[in-house]
Amino acid sequence: AMYRAKHAGGGRCEIFDDRMRDQAVQRLSVQRDLARALESGEIHPWYQPIVELSTGRVTGCEALARWDHPTRGTLLPADFLEHADETDAIIRIDTIVMDAASRQVAEWNRARPASDQLCLSVNVSARHVLSDRLAEHVARALEASGLPGSALCLDMSEHAIMDDVEINRQALVQVRDLGVQVAVDDFGTGSASLAHMSRLPVDLLKIDRSFVRGLVDTREPRAALVRAIETLGHAMGLRLVVEAVETQQEYEVVRSLGIDEAQGFFWGPPTPPDEAVWATEHLDLGVSR
Ligand code: C2E
Ligand code: CA
Repeated sequence: AMYRAKHAGGGRCEIFDDRMRDQAVQRLSVQRDLARALESGEIHPWYQPIVELSTGRVTGCEALARWDHPTRGTLLPADFLEHADETDAIIRIDTIVMDAASRQVAEWNRARPASDQLCLSVNVSARHVLSDRLAEHVARALEASGLPGSALCLDMSEHAIMDDVEINRQALVQVRDLGVQVAVDDFGTGSASLAHMSRLPVDLLKIDRSFVRGLVDTREPRAALVRAIETLGHAMGLRLVVEAVETQQEYEVVRSLGIDEAQGFFWGPPTPPDEAVWATEHLDLGVSR
């Protein structure tokens, strides 16, 4: 009850009742299950292709955590990340995904021509960035896998970046010293402005999926907003990526807006590595569709 009162802004009362008790029991049970899953290797990455819009080439992929639960099947981040984020379990998930995905993409890249190497995007939580151990974990993943720093991009949500701008700035400088790129995830959903971005060491903006949904209707202000983000972002030397492109129409609009790269079900959903044909067959997923 105290934590809930603090979380809701403080200076208020919360009553510990049966509902709160049930939620606490449920939370403990998921956290115990999660700790077991981390020990037994049930959490690992799936991969979604990222496509360069001007050529249709697959230039990279995003690694997304999946939990192969022994009784509940494959669980999505929405089923467990919130609970993981209450403890350092989220940092374990970040590093497990980063380590495994770095090894996987380094292996795919060894079979690809030098001119056509994939870049890997992984998600890092705010807790991880604030932990002071992010650069150490990134350096370890790169060294163990042989993936060059330039082929790794860390996605950090706009909300996380705005949490503690100064600490985050230092952490981002450290990882950029390893040659790694930094992306602002879900850009446009929080309070960060492009002015904030100009003060942070970031390389690309991933425009939130909510913008894509409104794009096809040109009367919607979303298209104008994306155009403005594109113009300013490019003027600041940032690369622009859109997420969750699902239809041909959305694809055509984002391409016409001058966005650099995109991902979404239009090209393919996240899959386990053995189903990621785009990684080994050098497919052009965009222009030919
Ligand atoms: P995100 O970083 O914004 O990742 C993109 C999400 O959009 C993924 O959801 C992906 O499956 C989904 N998506 C891709 N294309 C489409 C589309 O065309 N339509 C729709 N509706 N959705 C699409 P997923 O895999 O459920 O991941 C959700 C979030 O969980 C991610 O959002 C990311 O913030 C977080 N996450 C995933 N893996 C990790 C991890 O290893 N560490 C941390 N800290 N967060 C992670
Ligand atoms: Ca992401």
